[in-house]
Amino acid sequence: MSISNNEPEVSIGAQCKKPHSCDYLDRCWPKSTKENNSVFNLYKLNLDKKLDFYNQGITSFEQIKPDTKLSLTQQNQIKANEIKKPIINKSKIQTFIDSVEYPISYFDFETFTDAVPLFDGQRPHMQMPFQYSLHIQKDAKSNIDSDKEHFEFIASIKEDPRRAIAESMLQNIPKSGSIMAYNQSFEKNCIKSLADYCPDISEELLALNDRFIDLIDPFQIWWILPS
Ligand code: SF4
Repeated sequence: MSISNNEPEVSIGAQCKKPHSCDYLDRCWPKSTKENNSVFNLYKLNLDKKLDFYNQGITSFEQIKPDTKLSLTQQNQIKANEIKKPIINKSKIQTFIDSVEYPISYFDFETFTDAVPLFDGQRPHMQMPFQYSLHIQKDAKSNIDSDKEHFEFIASIKEDPRRAIAESMLQNIPKSGSIMAYNQSFEKNCIKSLADYCPDISEELLALNDRFIDLIDPFQIWWILPS
């Protein structure tokens, strides 16, 4: 049996991205698929529908037929591209800003996972918080770059970090004000698992979750659509 030197001629398709992204995307996918106005960049549209457009010869926003069913976000995305100006929902953003309360605690966890648990009560592949970073902005007049207070914690590699990190958080996070994170579900799930591990302080820990504000919201809910 011999191996042919010719490459097979295969169109781009779902096989390029599912279940994993192929290493040869840059070689096979046309450069136009990376342009801002490519149908492959339409927000919240699944790959099969993008490929449907592509296989019909519709590759850019401009080629999409006016009667095509699109979400409001997608329609606004196309409009922002057409008018070359971002579309910004100022009233939604104002409501978001108004919901923020001082002092603001900018908070971020780091975690590790193990296939084989190291500590009692640790599940395989469980997110184990071992480090956090906390910046506190006391009020609107505080200069966010120079006046903020900073606290951090890193656990000893030899011990289960959960009790120590939970106690340190309760000591350093202000008792009031918003706790701000980007993609809050990760931080909140970590806090839930710390509360399970530390039942004697679980109430205080879980109360932190009621104060989270997610910085991802203005972008994920598409209040800001870039041109
Ligand atoms: S990107 Fe990968 S999967 Fe897609 S056509 Fe090219 S080689 Fe095949």
